[in-house]
Amino acid sequence: MTGQERSEEKSECVSLSPMMEAVPAPPESERVCVFGTGDLGRSLGLRLLQAGYGVVFGSRRPHSRSSLLPHGAQVLGHAAAAQSAHLIFIAVQREHYDFLVPLANQLKGKVLVDLSNNLRKNQYPEANAEYLQSLVPGAEVVKGFNTLSAWSLQNGPSDANRQVYICGESVEAKQAVIAVAIKLGFSALDRGFLSVARELEDFPLQLFPQWRLPLRIAIGLSAAFFFYLLIRDIIYAYVTQSKDISFRIMVSLANKVCPIVSLIMLSLCYLPGVLASFLQLYRGTKYLP
Ligand code: NAP
Repeated sequence: MTGQERSEEKSECVSLSPMMEAVPAPPESERVCVFGTGDLGRSLGLRLLQAGYGVVFGSRRPHSRSSLLPHGAQVLGHAAAAQSAHLIFIAVQREHYDFLVPLANQLKGKVLVDLSNNLRKNQYPEANAEYLQSLVPGAEVVKGFNTLSAWSLQNGPSDANRQVYICGESVEAKQAVIAVAIKLGFSALDRGFLSVARELEDFPLQLFPQWRLPLRIAIGLSAAFFFYLLIRDIIYAYVTQSKDISFRIMVSLANKVCPIVSLIMLSLCYLPGVLASFLQLYRGTKYLP
């Protein structure tokens, strides 16, 4: 790097911590870079800072973005930011990925985490992560974190979104991303090679992906209890006592069927977990806190 380039880079650098001079910069292994200062980039940056990472944002306009970013982070131009860390989160929409092509040299050997999602299924011929890999062949692309929202990153993982799915070709690159996920409080599931990326990109587009079976069980149970109660309460009374109490079908049968089915559905949700816990305690594979 020439002296002129170095001074240009210096003038591009914006530190967002008044204490930055006094605080020693974390080693490269504890430093991560986030390209993009939008909703997801900022939330992820904040969470990384809270977990103890040094965060360097890469932005098109580092100076105008500095007031929006979390305290303690640095913001640089993309080229300089790329050189500051081994792991780079790409929090930019796929449509703009071509800005990475001129950075191919700086990104060589780096781990790029593709966070992007699409607006609909099959929006592009290939997965965003595969497209990113084709643009920057010298980097190791890992798909991951795309199932988390900016909101959940800011508020911390809850049970519902503790899982982070990742995939990629390089085992070392995936391990680096898994280590970050765990440090942020998530659990990471390695789904395999980068060819799985399209599936991961479709996850956020699925609404109640496993709704069919519970709905079928609920309908089946409702029908079974309805006919059982119809025979027991209405038809039996009519046959044995010649009493026509069919007017009760709408009110009293529904009042019985709905709570019974609700309680069974609740039990089906929670009982297997409780029983599994007892089994684990019995076998010694689970420990009480
Ligand atoms: P956003 O708020 O619009 O931010 C995108 C950022 O990309 C901008 O702030 C900008 O940062 C950068 N950018 C925009 N145009 C660019 C260009 N032409 N060249 C280079 N950089 C450009 O979007 P977002 O909500 O953070 O989402 C970013 C990515 O994360 C998307 O792919 C999205 O699918 C994915 N994602 C988002 C969420 C979420 O909850 N928001 C959740 C999961 C995944 P600079 O101005 O600093 O350059």
